[in-house]
Amino acid sequence: MQLYNTRTQKKEEFIPHEAGKVKMYTCGPTVYHYAHIGNLRTYIMEDVLEKGLRYLGYDVTRAMNITDVGHLSSDADTGEDKMLSGARREHKTVMEIAKFYTDAFFADCEKLGIQKPAIVVPATSCIETFIQMIEKLVEKGYAYIAGGNVYFDTSKLETYYVFGNMEEEGLAVGVRDSVEEDENKRNKSDFVLWFTKSKFDDQELKWDSLWGVGYPGWHIECSGISVKYLGEYLDIHCGGIDNAFPHHTNEIAQSESYLGHPWCKYWFHVLHLNDARGKMSKSKGDFLTVAYLEEKGYEPLAYRMFCLQSHYRKPLTFTFESLDNAVTSYRKLVARIAALKADGAHDEAGCEALREKFRGALGNDLNTSLALTALYDVLKAKISDSDKLALIGEFDTVLSLGLLDAAEKQRKAAAEPAKMQRPAGVSEAEATEIEELIAKRAAARKAKDWATADAIRDTLAARHIVVTDTPQGIVWKIEA
Ligand code: AMP
Ligand code: ZN
Repeated sequence: MQLYNTRTQKKEEFIPHEAGKVKMYTCGPTVYHYAHIGNLRTYIMEDVLEKGLRYLGYDVTRAMNITDVGHLSSDADTGEDKMLSGARREHKTVMEIAKFYTDAFFADCEKLGIQKPAIVVPATSCIETFIQMIEKLVEKGYAYIAGGNVYFDTSKLETYYVFGNMEEEGLAVGVRDSVEEDENKRNKSDFVLWFTKSKFDDQELKWDSLWGVGYPGWHIECSGISVKYLGEYLDIHCGGIDNAFPHHTNEIAQSESYLGHPWCKYWFHVLHLNDARGKMSKSKGDFLTVAYLEEKGYEPLAYRMFCLQSHYRKPLTFTFESLDNAVTSYRKLVARIAALKADGAHDEAGCEALREKFRGALGNDLNTSLALTALYDVLKAKISDSDKLALIGEFDTVLSLGLLDAAEKQRKAAAEPAKMQRPAGVSEAEATEIEELIAKRAAARKAKDWATADAIRDTLAARHIVVTDTPQGIVWKIEA
């Protein structure tokens, strides 16, 4: 498999530390709010990576943290604690917030076909590990205590900015106008490993340590959890591109200094989902969630399809129009699969050629749009319908678009009496109201009450609602 590695800034042949086995780590969510669909783009692509590796024959062990402590709202160590601000916003305890949003995150993941990694670890369950790691870093001279906090000393490293294309000066915390400088630091790029003294006197979660009662910094969580659960050699570390600096840069600094040898070979970063205002982010206030898309009538799996249609290393711009296009493609794809009959002879050579194309797409730096093309090729191929269904099921173990289930549902729905289908982009309340009007009009026509029927027709027309009878039942849409 060829995979782009942010650390070397090249596409490279993927060779795990131990042949056939992959240790994979994913930075998990900070559970102070719902995940937005930008966050979920990253988790979708990481999920495809894990499943793609399995499809290509690797035995993958994957771990992910849940950030329930220590993540500050800015890159500076002086920002506000995100969990604390979430708890304050909702008048709940930090642990209540963490539990609620962890569950919400996995519920969203399930709707998007994202499999929960085998190892999921809340940071608060590993405090001892972080403390032990920090102790060793202090012992080895990589960390110092100042103003009550423990800092990592980046001047002890040969290279700190390992993702080479970073503009060092521009990125160094402290040189940005908007970022408050922490006077305890020896170097601008130093970062906190353990907080005891900070401006958060009301920090709810605190643990005892050699350096006093306090809590860990965010970066040490991922180093600690990864080394504890996946060992000293990691093959792939994933995250959104904003994690490359400072988070992953700091993880590498800590882990390699602690271990005394190179730690993770491949760095997989997903580019951002942007909207009209730029990068989708929670700090901008309103952001799009899976629940919002559902409320507007979009199938979550159509959003997954939207993500798979473009490459993970390209920024992706979200608009409802492009999502509508993905919905149309998704529904058409499902309809074509629903039309297949489970019969015909097996053609191994024909299937293998199609598989080869799919494997080639995955092996080409996880080219998911080519993988989708390989799926469409199956539909066009001169093989039996039963071979097609088997291959679609097989490819969908990686793509996870729920294709066979959706096709089966569609087949059943077609056999049932006519039912209205809610168009994408319309809220449930609005759809209910429109459907009631359509039903009233049908009843009025049946009763030959033409005055009522015509009045309703005019109301619908004035709202640009177009009603059509189809073999699958009544469908309607709002024309732009
Ligand atoms: P957080 O919950 O803020 O720690 O972020 C969870 C994951 O989402 C991280 O891997 C981030 O890098 C990633 N992420 C944040 N914003 C975006 C975005 N707009 N598009 C894609 N990924 C993002
Ligand atoms: Zn992380």
